[in-house]
Amino acid sequence: MSFILVKNKNNTTGKTLPTGYTSWLDFWEKSKRKKALVCERMLCKNTAEVGGHVIKSGEGNKEYILPLCKDCNHTSNIEEFKAWESDLIAVKN
Ligand SMILES: [Zn+2]
Repeated sequence: MSFILVKNKNNTTGKTLPTGYTSWLDFWEKSKRKKALVCERMLCKNTAEVGGHVIKSGEGNKEYILPLCKDCNHTSNIEEFKAWESDLIAVKN
């Protein structure tokens, strides 16, 4: 497994959740076929609370879902952070 740098994507409130899911965290769990337990920001030990919208550093605006705690998902959190690349689920537009 390898990690990559990602950061929060701002202004995601307009994104439409695909049908068949109750939340972005539900979308991630059903796509991965596993429960989201711990925040995926590396070294954060908080419980995963939301499916956060992130972009890969240097990749432009392609959007991915990653389980995060509310602190790590906060839009004021603008620094890049490390996450496992295999845990990113792409959002289809
Ligand atoms: Zn966190």
